[in-house]
Amino acid sequence: MIYGRRLAFAVLAAGLAAGQAAAQDFDKVDISTTDLGNGLYMMEGAGGNLGVSVGDDGVFLIDDQYAPLSEKIQAAIGALTDKPVVYVLNTHWHGDHTGGNENFGKAGAVIVAHDNVRTRMSVDQVMEALGRTVPASPDAALPVITFSQNVTFHFNGQAVQATHLSNAHTDGDAVIKFKEGNVVHTGDIYFNGLFPFIDFTSGGNIEGMIEAQNKILDMADDDTKIIPGHGPLATKVDLTSTRDKLISVRDAIKPLVEQGLSVDEIVAQKPLSDLNLGWPPSFLDEDQFVRIVVAGLSAQ
Ligand SMILES: [Zn+2]
Repeated sequence: MIYGRRLAFAVLAAGLAAGQAAAQDFDKVDISTTDLGNGLYMMEGAGGNLGVSVGDDGVFLIDDQYAPLSEKIQAAIGALTDKPVVYVLNTHWHGDHTGGNENFGKAGAVIVAHDNVRTRMSVDQVMEALGRTVPASPDAALPVITFSQNVTFHFNGQAVQATHLSNAHTDGDAVIKFKEGNVVHTGDIYFNGLFPFIDFTSGGNIEGMIEAQNKILDMADDDTKIIPGHGPLATKVDLTSTRDKLISVRDAIKPLVEQGLSVDEIVAQKPLSDLNLGWPPSFLDEDQFVRIVVAGLSAQ
């Protein structure tokens, strides 16, 4: 089974490597800022969406994209406040969410994340779905405060609640809710409008994604502004739609895995063709997404 998966993923790795290279021209990236009220903002550049809280206590930053973008991110924050970034909270270990840690940490921010984020960033990581090994991060990039389940910050007049949801996108995911501002940052537990990446070599699984999205829906009401890991700002209706699509994907693929079909046989059946997912090929196309879902379900 493992051998078969390796062969199958060589194809996927080639496609993703090309996409990655195209996305690395950071000179052309602009950081856009969306005001969510109550001193809270969403920022978009390249990599994972940022959540920002600005107020008397300083700046609370959720994720920090890639290292070459740190100056641009700091400039976008500087347009809102003269106060420093006090905390950076990583939603998970992936480099498009933690790449700026070293820069922001050296500038004085305290980096916070789930225990498994520090554990994974401390040693080389194999991302089988991308066909690459990510080298260990330098000490200066590692979270200095880690938590196992929950942590609450009392900052800028808000309770900022970080909750670990297990084995969804990875095994170190955190979702963050700004209670008074009614804003939730989901990290990569939620991709809005595109095929979601599920990092099965880091413990991710579509079953966990569905369960985690159910828990995030429990945290939200009709007015909650939801910052997804990737894609545009969302509402509870949008997240509910994605959760329903993931259930339909799981229900279409799981029986085929349980029948013992190979990943190539499952891909060849085009099991998602009738689901009207409405996700255009982007970081992943439909066949690549099927391979990732099968790998996660097969590893259970
Ligand atoms: Zn990710």
